[in-house]
Order: sequence, then C-alpha cells, then structure tokens
Amino acid sequence: MDNQTKVDIYIDETIIGLKYQLLKIWIIGVLSRNMVEEYKEGNAIDKIVRILDERYYLKSSAIKEVSEEKDPFLVLISCLLSLRTKDEVTREASIRLFDLAKTPETMSKLSIDQIQGAIYPVGFYKTKSERIKQICLDLIEKYDSKVPDDIGELLELKGVGRKTANIVLTMGFNKLGVAVDTHVHRICNRLGYVCTKKPDDTEFELRKKLQKKYWITFNNLLVLHGKNICTPISPKCSICPIYQYCNRIGVTKSR
Ligand code: SF4
Repeated sequence: MDNQTKVDIYIDETIIGLKYQLLKIWIIGVLSRNMVEEYKEGNAIDKIVRILDERYYLKSSAIKEVSEEKDPFLVLISCLLSLRTKDEVTREASIRLFDLAKTPETMSKLSIDQIQGAIYPVGFYKTKSERIKQICLDLIEKYDSKVPDDIGELLELKGVGRKTANIVLTMGFNKLGVAVDTHVHRICNRLGYVCTKKPDDTEFELRKKLQKKYWITFNNLLVLHGKNICTPISPKCSICPIYQYCNRIGVTKSR
C-alpha cells in the first residue's frame, strides 16, 4: 500500500469517526431535550412513579407495615428507630418495643435499660432510648399524649427532623408531606429532576414541582429503589427500569 492510499484511508476513517461522534452528540442532545421537556410537563415523573409502583408493589418497609396500624405514635417511634438502621433491624426492634408498650404513657414508664434492651441493635440505640423516653414525656405534658399533626410542632420534639416529621404526617396521619431522606435526595438529583445539595433543599424543591397526588407515596418508592437498584455507590443502571428517564447526573461508576 503506497503512502497516498494510507493517507486516504486515514482521512476516510477520521471522517467516519467524526460523523459517528456528531451523530452521538445529536442523539444525546435530542434525548436530553426530550427528557427536560418530559420533566417540565411532569410526564417523566408520571411514568417513573408508575414503573416503580409496578416494580415494588409487593415490597414493603418496616415503617409502612407499622403505619397499617393507623397510629401516628407507633409511626413516630418506628421512624426514630429506623434512622441509620437496616429495615430488618428496625422491623424486629419495633416489634419488641411495641410488645412492651404502645402508648406514650406506657412507654414513658419503661426504664432506659428496658428500652435499650428492646431496641438493640438499632444504630445509636443508647441515644435513641433516651430520646424515645423524652418524647413520650413531652407528648404527655404538651400534647395530651397525642402526636401533633403539625410539622412545626413535630419539629419541636427533640430528635425529630424534617424527614421524620414528614413521615409521621404522611404515613401516620395520611396528610400531605414530602419525606426526603438520602435515597430520595440522591435519586432525584441523579434523575436530573432537582439540582440540590442537601435533602432539606430537595424537599422544598419537590414541594414546588411534584404533583401532590405523589407526595405520600414518593418516599417509599424511591427508598425501595435506592436500596435495590439505585444504590449510593455503583448503581445498577444496566437493570434499572427507569433508565430511559434518567440523566444519570453525577454517576461516574455503575453496574
Ligand atoms: S439509571 Fe442508574 S442512576 Fe438513574 S435511577 Fe437508574 S440506577 Fe439510578
């Protein structure tokens, strides 16, 4: 092969390579534009919720199971137990504690040692035992032994943050709220639905953007998705059922 032929082949291959790259950029651009439009119109979220609903309708979480008793106090206590704790551990600890006491009065009469013994090995079980006892006493003293259904009042209880307060509202009272934990925060940002730094900011964005009909169920679906597929490190994008609606913002490593 002479030099001229080699140069011709090189130029041809370069042009083909460039065309391929341009085509790729154009396709990605079109898909991204479509996705942005879909997010603007809320279509993508409708589809995401429907797909995740179908995917996880058989799965439940410890707090969701507790919420079936329709008692906001039990939801509040379970939610406190669940912080930084695996779901199976929360489930078992809730059962053991609720076998001993199911109301603020009866639970306030348990000793710290009894509460610790019942909830071990949940994360931070020593601190949580003291918080639980204090919350029971506060509920008795300030709220006539009833859990308040107001987010401001819930946040005044020691150890109750925005996520817990919203879960009590949604799962305990079936009232509107947007509970955002690390899973919801991470997935909403990866999808490109929000662009926020902290879970609280995500909550405020979702309160603006997310249709109210999804407020109560959104947390449970995204938590299940975050635990099963969209894991913090190396999400399983290759088997993700909502891949086509995801911008995969910030995902550098996936399976
Ligand atoms: S495609 Fe990947 S990053 Fe996006 S939601 Fe699915 S698992 Fe998460």
